[in-house]
Amino acid sequence: MSTERSQAIFERAQAVIPGGVNSPVRACRSVGADPIFVVQGDGAYIMDADGNKYIDLIGSWGPLILGHTHREILDTIAETMSMGTTFGAPTEIEVKFAETLRDAVPSMEMVRAVSSGTESTMSALRLARGFTKRDKIIKADGGYHGHADCLLVAAGSGAATLGIPGSAGVPEGAARDTLVVPFNDLAAVEKLVAAGDIAAVIIEPVCGNMGLVAPAPGYLEGLRAITAKHGTLLIFDEVMTGFRVAYGGAQELYNIKPDLTTIGKVVGGGLPAAAFGGRADIMKHLAPLGPVYQAGTLSGNPLAMSAGLKAMEILARPGTYARLEHLGQQLADGLLAAAKAANVPACVNRVGSMLTVFFCTGPVTDYATAKTADTARFGTFFRKLRDRGVFLPPSQFEAMFVSLAHTDEDIQQIVTEARVALAD
Ligand SMILES: *Cc1c(COP(=O)(O)O)cnc(C)c1O
Repeated sequence: MSTERSQAIFERAQAVIPGGVNSPVRACRSVGADPIFVVQGDGAYIMDADGNKYIDLIGSWGPLILGHTHREILDTIAETMSMGTTFGAPTEIEVKFAETLRDAVPSMEMVRAVSSGTESTMSALRLARGFTKRDKIIKADGGYHGHADCLLVAAGSGAATLGIPGSAGVPEGAARDTLVVPFNDLAAVEKLVAAGDIAAVIIEPVCGNMGLVAPAPGYLEGLRAITAKHGTLLIFDEVMTGFRVAYGGAQELYNIKPDLTTIGKVVGGGLPAAAFGGRADIMKHLAPLGPVYQAGTLSGNPLAMSAGLKAMEILARPGTYARLEHLGQQLADGLLAAAKAANVPACVNRVGSMLTVFFCTGPVTDYATAKTADTARFGTFFRKLRDRGVFLPPSQFEAMFVSLAHTDEDIQQIVTEARVALAD
């Protein structure tokens, strides 16, 4: 397949954008490839500048659970847009967005909208610190919560893939109060929390940013009990899992009630929207009611709110999550069988429509075991599949996302191409 035009655009891009991309993993460096430049999406597919068509398993890194160019989403955006694009004064649609989130995720008694997942976690942590009057926070090794200074410590995926586990430019002081524990290790959290000076534990209830890693039975329950005992807030970062692993997110799936929740990706319906929320007594510490400052010129943007609301409305229809489960299972089973047939060591982790094929025998239960995967083999797998019209997330440490736009035939096609790619 030709990639001439993408190559030409990439040359221009590198002259004016660092690395030619506006978010590092898009550069495809860890899989030894150059980016393709996308011109169009259509359902489960994307088309690049050279006219190549791919089955898309990235879905914009999670937001596009309905697929590209969903008719109802596009119509909603157009309708909202005809009334104006932003006002900097409140609109009713923001209230509907907050009410819908609260109804879907009951632990989010009050909600504030922001424009990115990074903003939501950064703001939730400030709020947790302001509320508890403590500075220290705990996160998991390999857990990614956006790129705020205090969270760029042992931060998985993008950072891990590039071999910069922290980041230059993060002052020692900003990272000093961030304590890191292995995911799924309850005893490690208990030891730190018991000191009584931890503001919050922030965790992806299902990790998606070290490749997909599910919580061990009892882990989330344990976190809930330990944090409650010591006055530490439990923050579920559901930016990836919210409206993805279940309508009400991982907290619905595992039946755990965190104090605060951060949410993004799917809730913007493909536009930039995110939110954080939780216990009303905590949320009332936010300005203008309380002393914790947080703001945003485009927060609650009407276009993004309406796209997100429509996405949530569509996802609430009967059968959507059963369908996503079915597709995810077909893909996971098919990829595992393909690896077996080719005698390639692999294990597949999956929760609903999110999954990762790790090229190692496994089990993968935390970042240390994820790192035993053969990343060179993943790079080859990525490149071969891309040449065969299947676009995977370009890193061993990311999850594939299946959407409602994928058909059983699309999944079968991916598995067939994977068999060929792995057999060589
Ligand atoms: C994507 C992601 C973020 C960051 O969201 P952005 O919108 O990219 O800033 C934070 N937390 C988790 C769990 C994520 O998956």
